Amino acid sequence: MTDARDLLARYLGQRALLGDDVIYVSGLARAVPPAAQPPAAEPDPAAEQERTSAAEQPKAAAARSDQGGARGRRAKKAESGGARWKKDLPAIPPRGIEVAAPGTDLFSEDPLAEADLDGIAGMVHQCTKCKLCEGRTNAVPGEGPADARLVVVGEGPGAVEDETGRPFVGRAGELLTEILAAIELPREQVYICNIVKCRPPSNRKPQQDEIDACVPYLHRQLAVIKPAVILAMGGTAAETLLGTRQSLGAMRNKVHEFRGVPLVVTYHPAALLRNPHWKKPTWDDVRIARQLVDQRR
Ligand code: URA
Ligand code: SF4
Repeated sequence: MTDARDLLARYLGQRALLGDDVIYVSGLARAVPPAAQPPAAEPDPAAEQERTSAAEQPKAAAARSDQGGARGRRAKKAESGGARWKKDLPAIPPRGIEVAAPGTDLFSEDPLAEADLDGIAGMVHQCTKCKLCEGRTNAVPGEGPADARLVVVGEGPGAVEDETGRPFVGRAGELLTEILAAIELPREQVYICNIVKCRPPSNRKPQQDEIDACVPYLHRQLAVIKPAVILAMGGTAAETLLGTRQSLGAMRNKVHEFRGVPLVVTYHPAALLRNPHWKKPTWDDVRIARQLVDQRR
């Protein structure tokens, strides 16, 4: 496949992931990534694996591409880009939980209280405050500009993140990067980090003692950056920041406030890869977050 076709395939796949109709173009069977396939009755990780490595099926794609010009026009329109995220924007939802800032302790001797982003990262790399330090290859403090308008918070590093020391660079990370591009907030402009900074073994959920040990780093990162909006991706990020235990469904579609900063909750991109039913609500959530960023210029 030529570069241009590859690019188009990736673009259409991204649009499909974000809730657009699936578009078929002759010879571009790879345009539709696994998670964008029409939802299966049951999410099936084994089938997902298989699809990831599946060879192209030009015959089937060619047959489907014969279904008329409307799809062709759609594909063209998609290719031309523009502020597509503004189409059929969801309304800003009502207010949710408010988490107040703690009183400041003028006599604190905690070096974290004074640290900038590099200082925090340095402390994270040295940190042995919880047992997750034992299994890490690299701690993953987070990355992005200190003046980011949006901070994305995930759960914890996975295998690729642990290998590279960078947040959200595996498959879920690729999806996050595409989502951010689609709302015209390129990844490079966003601060991306996690609740815990070291990889939990076998990607299990971080335990409460690990979260408690690690979350001061995140709190300080947020205090330094002072973003316009926080996007909490997944239950662990949302419950930790909001200090609550609720289903993700109950926490999303509200504008919460964390220490004065609007906070929007959405699905974790890894969950999204497993369950395509969540791509439309996620697309709405991230566009709510995007609008809030614009509101706080
Ligand atoms: N999942 C997360 O929550 N964080 C990462 O950095 C990668 C995957
Ligand atoms: Fe320290 Fe956080 Fe890593 Fe635990 S997860 S060792 S608290 S940096």
